[in-house]
Amino acid sequence: MTHKLYWDDPHADAFDARVVAHGDLEGRPSVILEATLFYPEAGGQMADWGTLGGAPVRDVQVDAEGRIHHVVDELPAVGSLLAGRIDRSRRREHMALHTGQHMLSRALLDLGKAPTVSSRLGESGATLDVDRVLSAKTLAAVEARVNEVVDEHRPVRALHPTATELEAMDLRRAPKVEGAIRIIEVEGFDLTPCGGTHCTDTAQVGWLRITDAVKHRGGQRLTFVAGPRTRRVLAAESESLRALAARFTCGVGDVAGAIDKLERELGEAREALGATRAAYAAAQAASFTGDPLVATLDADVATLRALAAEAAVGRSLVVLSAPVGDAFHVVVARGADSPHDCGALFRRLTETCGGRGGGRPERAEGRMERAPTPADL
Ligand SMILES: [Zn+2]
Repeated sequence: MTHKLYWDDPHADAFDARVVAHGDLEGRPSVILEATLFYPEAGGQMADWGTLGGAPVRDVQVDAEGRIHHVVDELPAVGSLLAGRIDRSRRREHMALHTGQHMLSRALLDLGKAPTVSSRLGESGATLDVDRVLSAKTLAAVEARVNEVVDEHRPVRALHPTATELEAMDLRRAPKVEGAIRIIEVEGFDLTPCGGTHCTDTAQVGWLRITDAVKHRGGQRLTFVAGPRTRRVLAAESESLRALAARFTCGVGDVAGAIDKLERELGEAREALGATRAAYAAAQAASFTGDPLVATLDADVATLRALAAEAAVGRSLVVLSAPVGDAFHVVVARGADSPHDCGALFRRLTETCGGRGGGRPERAEGRMERAPTPADL
């Protein structure tokens, strides 16, 4: 059995170990070592990255027999001594996320009576599912509680209790495995069985932030960041907000107000445009002659609709089109007492003019490859 150096010291990033066997992980060659710092993907935590003997380790997985496979491109000889190095910043991020997850699960239980159903510490996002929906206020209190414990610099330890000691422990959840159980203790706060890598002090979690909460399978799925990832994510959000503030030439605190003002002005502009368009359509429609009226105009889609509505008053049939890109937008409309079926006519026109669409008997619109002419009716 490979000795788990990552359990001895989660902060270590370099080690030497002998190759004890060659393995095979679903067709990929792998190395089994006497000891390793490489954490294999397990318990929702991603595998470590790094190098063995200077060559990249492609993946680290544990098989059903508990053997840890280091997937490599070329197999070093059995018995050779290799220098291993893990990606320090990646591990550091996983440790913070994993410890943060334990603390978040505890605070959710204490303040929201919400047990954790499952969690995933992914490459780009970490999520945690609870069995109920918590209010924004409760989630804010949960987050504050976790960060309070972060600031208290509480030791985080891995314990290997005897069966008697284990029985006396008030665990957050029951162990998922039999035999020797490893317990992660956040001093005075949480006791949970876990085989992952964790920080050694709550302060190393830095800052836990719940970034999203959505309803999920009758409960809630929380997305969170912790440790170095919090800095990265929140710095990017801060940069976005600063960029927005610069565009509005205001302070970051005034962006929401600037957007409100912009929305108000946009609403007023839309209203004014609608009135102008209606007046233009009424004036333009007065100059149309003939019934049925078939015409191609140089107008935007909204104006085309307004023109068709105006022109249809007192007419049996109106077919108006306007160029949009390399096609035509077509509106078919009719007057109040007209017997025409606009939807049926539209579909018939697409057979000769190309395109797709249809509509109701009183009105139809869509795109055609060429503009309909009176000869197409
Ligand atoms: Zn853990």
